[in-house]
Amino acid sequence: MTDAMFSAKGRFYRGNLHTHSTLSDGVLEPAEVCRRYKAEGYDFIALTDHFIGLYDYPIADTIGYRDEAFTTILGAELHSGAMENGNLWHILAVGLPADFAPSNSPHFQPVKDQETGAEIAQRARAAGAFVAIAHPEWSGMTMEDARNIKAAHAVEIYNHGCYAGCDRGYGLHTLDLLLSEGHKLTLCATDDAHFYEPDHFGGWVMVKAAKNTPEALLEALKAGHHYASQGPEFRDIRWFDDAVEVDCSSVAAIIVSGKATPTANVHGTSMTTARLPLDRLQKSDWLRVTLVDHAGKRAWSNPVWRG
Ligand SMILES: [Zn+2]
Ligand SMILES: [Zn+2]
Repeated sequence: MTDAMFSAKGRFYRGNLHTHSTLSDGVLEPAEVCRRYKAEGYDFIALTDHFIGLYDYPIADTIGYRDEAFTTILGAELHSGAMENGNLWHILAVGLPADFAPSNSPHFQPVKDQETGAEIAQRARAAGAFVAIAHPEWSGMTMEDARNIKAAHAVEIYNHGCYAGCDRGYGLHTLDLLLSEGHKLTLCATDDAHFYEPDHFGGWVMVKAAKNTPEALLEALKAGHHYASQGPEFRDIRWFDDAVEVDCSSVAAIIVSGKATPTANVHGTSMTTARLPLDRLQKSDWLRVTLVDHAGKRAWSNPVWRG
């Protein structure tokens, strides 16, 4: 298997795909949100305010904050239709046109005569967006909910705001079960920053793209040429029939996961490369790699599919 991300042309760009501003319920103006992310060393950001009537269906115009070293992707967090628990859907759409038509979503409660979550996700994908199922754990999402969003490219497997706010930041369980059902999804980590808690600079994507432009970044995200991180870096992943070799920043554990319970893992101090045998994972048609550093921060590769 080749690792599509490392064989893709370009370099890695660091970005946050999920952020709020004063255009919805965030604390900071769009300009200040962009300034802070750029100052922190990010290459790009998507401001994704809540796309509901209460906030006049905002799609933040961040084009004026782009420069040689920093870009922005237009987007929104979409809300329409009820989940099985009765709550309104939250769906991340990165790469929306500025004139994306409003849904019938007056506030944060589901109403009659509005698109389902699946329908608004499909409409966003058709309009060019990279679509992610947002914060499954925070939402109390069921598997039936998750498998309904057929237009999703990815599952948000770490949401730093949901972690900081209520220790429900993860979505790996949902992703792994969907993968094991055969859904060809990728993963992303985000901040979902509102800046009213320490909810920023905690989860991001590293996108391997030809250029730091919205178009190239979106193309790479849709192709799965990215990984998610809270800190550690992947430097290379080389897949063989019976093993995988990983080069990375200094970590304390490297773990390969797949369908069901068998894994391969290696633990140590300051490891920057390792070869892990895959003999216990031969029955899995997908595999993904997790890095864990000495502070417990993690990075996650996208799944690769065998056969
Ligand atoms: Zn949300
Ligand atoms: Zn959000």
